[in-house]
Amino acid sequence: MIHCDGLVKIYKTADLEVFALQGLDLHIEDGELMAIIGNSGSGKSTLLNMLGGLDRPTAGTLTVDGKDMLKMTERERVRYKRHSVGFVWQNNARNLIPYLTALENVELPILLSGRRKRLRALELLESVGLMHRARNKLHQLSGGEQQRVAIAIALANQPRLLLADEPTGSVDSKMADQILDLFRELNRKLGITIVIVTHDPLLAKKVDRVVAIRDGKISSEMIRRKSYAEELEELERGIAQEEE
Ligand code: ADP
Ligand code: MG
Repeated sequence: MIHCDGLVKIYKTADLEVFALQGLDLHIEDGELMAIIGNSGSGKSTLLNMLGGLDRPTAGTLTVDGKDMLKMTERERVRYKRHSVGFVWQNNARNLIPYLTALENVELPILLSGRRKRLRALELLESVGLMHRARNKLHQLSGGEQQRVAIAIALANQPRLLLADEPTGSVDSKMADQILDLFRELNRKLGITIVIVTHDPLLAKKVDRVVAIRDGKISSEMIRRKSYAEELEELERGIAQEEE
């Protein structure tokens, strides 16, 4: 789905150049659930922004479904960003409206009207396990629940790729676990490709593949022998046989 080869990103400011990505190679398969870890300043957010079409690489190649991001027109890039990608951030407070209900917040970005809009919003709330909180104002929800609302919104345009930048950075570890479970469920049920940036090594262990970046390059990679999806299928099969 995504190929980065020798990806370079240089930020130029008035008096200095920052080499945020320095020849990064990464391949992401369709339907993967993966994590990117690395110290602060290693280039994680920069990479995620490139993958999501929020910004353009300086050099190298970045192809998405065979299309070269460096050769895309501005219009194609915006289209890709809007229709193919969903984003979740550490702190979504800026994008959510505290005095609207969870349902109203989810309805806002949906480009449908009337009953269709309502239906889609309810489906989204259901997919993140928040139906019972639909009527509550956002400020009445816990941090983890607010993060679920943000995830529902990220899914509003039915993206194929979900990018999450430190999505559990501002919640406690139990909440973080639940959010990761939700990502896994969405990955399995919707077949959506998910890339999570985190600096929590425990969390990173729970995905199918972990890539570590250092100084703007991939420094190591860990792949689970068996994906959670496979493990789940095996368990389900085993239990079904026992019950027969
Ligand atoms: P991480 O997300 O791993 O903490 P970032 O991708 O945010 O790292 O940053 C990588 C490097 O690029 C850092 O040195 C950071 O200061 C720099 N950087 C990030 N964004 C910008 C920007 N818009 N302008 C200038 N430098 C930036
Ligand atoms: Mg970052």
